[in-house]
Amino acid sequence: MQLLKDRIRKDGKIRSGNVLKVDSFLNHQMDIELFGEIGKEFKRRFAEQEITKILTIEASGIGIACIAAQYFKVPVVFAKKNQTKNIAGDVYTGKVESFTHGRIYDIIVAKEFLKSEDRILIIDDFLANGAALLGLAKLVKDAGATLVGAGIVIEKGFQEGGTLIRESGVRLESLAIIESMSEDNGIVFRD
Ligand code: 5GP
Repeated sequence: MQLLKDRIRKDGKIRSGNVLKVDSFLNHQMDIELFGEIGKEFKRRFAEQEITKILTIEASGIGIACIAAQYFKVPVVFAKKNQTKNIAGDVYTGKVESFTHGRIYDIIVAKEFLKSEDRILIIDDFLANGAALLGLAKLVKDAGATLVGAGIVIEKGFQEGGTLIRESGVRLESLAIIESMSEDNGIVFRD
């Protein structure tokens, strides 16, 4: 998606540890007009699919998922991150190692919001090593629901997540795939 790649090139900031900061339009301040274009593009790519719900993870995925959901006309469910070990109640749970913080989180979704008849599209901001996406996919599987695919705004193609997810047979649509990034050579996109 050219508009997105241009914006990443213009405003993305490369940080140590293979982290790309996009706080001025995606992760802190949010450019809602751009989110609208992102939502439309996800809808275009999954147009032929029946989707009943969008699943994402707090916090950064929520805004993107909500705007996209307006084009799919379905509800959004977000997995909550929980650092406590005492998870009780009727919930599906999984564990996710945070790429940016290095901690391990429990993620939870109440069982009432994921049903076996659901056809789920997962949406998230970044794909790095794939832990968040695989964690969400596990919740979908535990619910007996169908995972239709995953829509990612920025995939860092030099990390293993994309390969892992595609090899697991999940349809993955990333709107911008970064092949490499460095202070010296800037950001190079796949295409
Ligand atoms: P993964 O689980 O695929 O390793 O990492 C995905 C999650 O980590 C995303 O939900 C995102 O919040 C965060 N993340 C991973 N890499 C980056 C990055 O380069 N920049 C930012 N802002 N977030 C990232």
